Parts: sequence; structure tokens; C-alpha cells
Amino acid sequence: MLALTNVRLIDGTGHDPIENMAIIIDGNRIKNVGLVTSYPDNTNVVDLRGLTVMPGLIDCHLHLGGLTVDKPGKAIGKVSLKDMASFFFDYSRNYAHRRWLAIENGVTTIRSAGDHYPHIIRLRDKIAAGKLVGPRIFAPGPTITAPGGHPAGTIYKGNRYIIKNATRQIAEVSSAREEVRRLVEGGVDCIKAIYSDINPMDITHKVPRLSLDVLEVLADEAHQYNLRLMVHTGSPKETMDAIKAGADSIEHGILPGGDSTEFEDDLVKMMLDKGTFFVPTLAIAWAYKEAYPAVFSGLKQAVKILHSAGVNMAAGTDSGTPGVVIGKGLHKELELMVEAGISPMEAITAGTRNAADNLGKANELGTIESGKLADIIAVSRDPLKDIRDTREIKLVIKDGKILVNRVST
Ligand SMILES: [Zn+2]
Repeated sequence: MLALTNVRLIDGTGHDPIENMAIIIDGNRIKNVGLVTSYPDNTNVVDLRGLTVMPGLIDCHLHLGGLTVDKPGKAIGKVSLKDMASFFFDYSRNYAHRRWLAIENGVTTIRSAGDHYPHIIRLRDKIAAGKLVGPRIFAPGPTITAPGGHPAGTIYKGNRYIIKNATRQIAEVSSAREEVRRLVEGGVDCIKAIYSDINPMDITHKVPRLSLDVLEVLADEAHQYNLRLMVHTGSPKETMDAIKAGADSIEHGILPGGDSTEFEDDLVKMMLDKGTFFVPTLAIAWAYKEAYPAVFSGLKQAVKILHSAGVNMAAGTDSGTPGVVIGKGLHKELELMVEAGISPMEAITAGTRNAADNLGKANELGTIESGKLADIIAVSRDPLKDIRDTREIKLVIKDGKILVNRVST
């Protein structure tokens, strides 16, 4: 048993913090949260006086198999040979570097939004079995797109190995249905589709977009198997189409070359009616704000409008894409949410409870409550005063195991 004592607790539900709490962890689960003062024998007691405890952070949109990790990008898609070599090195080590980046930054759960398949599923399972240290992974496997669509016809263009492993290019309704069934058999956690004709590498040229019929079938088939459909869109119009087709979450919503000016009331109403999650990935828009200032400001505006209307907001970063670093990106995302007009507490909720809810795992993850999986972090200073303090990580526990301990005793 493990006991965390003298805790200032932000439990992830959005409630005000509570002082002097204790958290008892038994195995990989939280056994008790409260004003406990005595513990069974052999309990490892960790005094966290002065620290704030929160649920492990969740990044709902990153790419473990993205081509660069920690280099700021100058232009999307400019991947050098050196980057490629360093990618394949980490890939061959089951992303050891990237796994650790997530963990040491307090990101204990990730949704890797389109990756090398089935590699990502095997990696997920190795981590779950305790054979490798890393974040809990949820993965859709390959990204489903139109023939020649993003990312097959853009960022991965010319790289047959990556296109084959990390994408599925689909034109027909019947093959969409078959593909979802194959992926379900392969053990994916969700389905990811690109519904956008925007080429983020070159906004002057459009790329093919998945047909709406195919998108509808992907939603229908995913839902048959109780899987969620995450859809990358690039404009309010594409977003509305995707929601109508059955998307459970909208990723990005506004991209370079998309129309970020019109933001229709219908869209807000539709998202509220359907309970659609919005994963804005402000971090990647921030990374390219000099190249695409309208995207960054438009996306922040969208976050503000949707959030104040009550739309579910979940944190995701697109890290693994040049410009945003895995693990660190999540802290930037929370900071940018606050910059867009969300309170620090609500930003934390977007990176914890709402994110878990968006993964369909609200009963297991995202809050510090008895019965839930013990994914917990502790930070110094006060992220409710300054959201950037979520970076001040002193302790990371995943599945009841202490993976990072910088608590001074
Ligand atoms: Zn992405």
C-alpha cells in the first residue's frame, strides 16, 4: 500500500481544492481519499506537504510515431534525413525517448492519434502488461483518409513504408466497413479519420477529402463495436459535416487554409445536442502562429465560444508533429486554454476528467476518487494561480507505481 499525505487535492472533477487530504493506493487503484490519519503496517507513506496533487494528465491527441520529437518546426513537413534517422532509432526502441518524455512531464495517458500499426497496439499492450514503462496508450491504429488525402498525400508523400503502416486510403463505403472490422479485430481503441481537403504543408493546393458517405459508414461501424470516431477537420463547414456524420470528437477544427472567420451558431448547437468533444490542439496552432496567425487567433476564438456555450473540451496537442514536444506540449495546451479565456481549474479538467470522458474511460481515469486507477501527479507552487505551474512536477504515479520522485524529504 502507498499513502500520500498532507495533500492539497485538485481531484479533477472541477471542485475547489481540499487541503490536508490523504490518498491511499492499493495496488494499481485508489482505495480511499479523505482525512485519514492511520495506515496499515507496511504502508509506504509519502508526505506531500506543500505540494498540489492532481490526476495524471491526459493528452487526447498526439503522435508517438510523429517524425520529430523535440525540435521546433519551421515549416510543417520539412523533415530532414537526420530527423528521419532519429525517428527510426526511437521507433526501433519502442519509442523509449517519447515514452519517457510523456511520463516525466506527468502525462500518464495518451491517445496516439494515428500511428504505425500494428506496432502501436503491441507497444500499448507491452506497457499495459508492465513490460515497458510508459503512458497508458489509446490508439486508433492507422489514420483513415481519402486516396491521396492528408497525411498520405502530404506529410508522408513518397514514403511508402510509413503510408502503408500508418494510413488507410479509402474511397468506397464497402471497404470502409471492412477496414473498421479488420481494425477492431486488430484491437484498436477507436477510429481516426481525416475529413479535410486542406494540405497543411501547402495550403495553396487542396488534397482529396474522404467522401461523406465513407465518413458516415466509419461512424456507424465504429459505433457498432462501441468505439469512438475522432475526426480531424479544418473548417467550421467540415466540422459540421463530421458531426452530422457521427464524429464523437472534433480534432483541430480550424487549420491553415480553412475558414476561421465564420463560426456558426448551428455548429455550437449541434455540438451541444450531440455531446461532441472538441480537441482544439491549440499547441500546434501556437507552434505555427507566425506562419498562420489567423489560425491561432481563430482557434482561440473558437475555444472561447464553444467553451462558454458549454461544449465538452478535452486537451490534445498534436505533439510529435514538428514544433510541439510530447509531454511538454500538454502543459502548453493548458496554458493556451487559459489564454483563450478558460479558467485554470477548467483547463485542468480538460486535461483530466474531460479527457478521460472523451476516451470513454470516465469510470477508470481522469479523477482522484476511490476505485479509480491510481494515476496521480504532484506539483509545487499553484497551478490555479498560474496554470504554467503544472510544469513543476515533483511526483508521477501511474498504475499505483511511483515513476518520478523529486519530492525532497
Ligand atoms: Zn494529429
